[in-house]
Amino acid sequence: MYGVFEKIVRHPERVTLEEIAWVISNDELNEKLFALADEVRQKYLGKQVYLRGIIEFSNYCRNDCLYCGIRASNKNVKRYRMSIDEIVERAKLIAEMGIKTVVLQSGEDPYYTTEMIGEMIQRIKRLNVAITLSIGERDFEEYEYWKNLGADRYLMRHETADEQLYEKLHPNDSFQIRKSHLIRLKQLGYETGAGSMVGLPGQNDVALAKDVLFVYELDADMVGIGPFIPHPDTPLRDSKAGDLTKVLKLIALTRLFLPDANIPATTALGTIHPFGRQLALKCGANVIMPNFTPSPYRSHYTLYPNKICIFEKDTACGECTKNIVRSIGYEVSEDFGYRRKNRERFSCRV
Ligand code: SAH
Repeated sequence: MYGVFEKIVRHPERVTLEEIAWVISNDELNEKLFALADEVRQKYLGKQVYLRGIIEFSNYCRNDCLYCGIRASNKNVKRYRMSIDEIVERAKLIAEMGIKTVVLQSGEDPYYTTEMIGEMIQRIKRLNVAITLSIGERDFEEYEYWKNLGADRYLMRHETADEQLYEKLHPNDSFQIRKSHLIRLKQLGYETGAGSMVGLPGQNDVALAKDVLFVYELDADMVGIGPFIPHPDTPLRDSKAGDLTKVLKLIALTRLFLPDANIPATTALGTIHPFGRQLALKCGANVIMPNFTPSPYRSHYTLYPNKICIFEKDTACGECTKNIVRSIGYEVSEDFGYRRKNRERFSCRV
């Protein structure tokens, strides 16, 4: 009879939802879980940490996700859109700092047409960086068009793999639709990122276990996991924030199921705890995402309140995140940080 961790490492395909939920609910296992996740991370990825420079280029959004501070019906947000020239200028700064990935993130903003996003991709690719798009659900034809222009990765969290909860939180959207987009992105050859929030109202340990199984079954290349943080201008304003330890447990479990995936130490985790990101890097995470959104826009990309680094000199995050990595004895990678050097094969278990 295997212990549960041994089973996860050796036979992840045999692990049940109940077993994962049991690990999540049992805090006596935490130390062992965290140590094992760090061991697996070091075995597969060494001490290297990848940096991804993120540009939050628009906070307009057509959606109304109940948790999100930039939801369409929040009238207290000062909305902004960066021009293509402004975006490319920031991408240049990222490249000049030796950071090899540019993440382009925004609300779901149809103002940026297929061709406009295409132009960004073409101009930024000339800087010899990998590009991650994180702009929400678009048409399948657009995903294909951008892939052909050189986009490398697509980040679209599944938010929660509990179907009912997903549908409560996302008016006019469904979990099955989100899943179909993620599968399509994988089929097209994108390195595909899913991920979820921890501590959403109504989310129990079984729901969290579903998140772990979902990213494993999708064979997600990247998994972003952070705490839910209530925003005062949303319907979830009175809910509690997600808990640090629970987020770390989800990160660690995800590392055991996906030993070579790229897992960020998220900014939201750094927001609920001063050392949240350092702790995550010690529990299985291997990516950190310095913020390169210029002021004055940066302070208006308020997915949740008290987001860190809002008042920094707007290029400071590059150096700061490098220092975070070094302070815990890990190394800043100068590599592009792809999950696999040659992704010749589409793989997915769902
Ligand atoms: N429009 C893009 C980007 C969304 S913002 C897309 O749909 O993919 C990036 C992530 O921030 C979301 O996927 C969500 O998981 C997270 N987020 C939004 N509101 C949050 C909140 N209140 N607390 C914590 N994380 C939040």
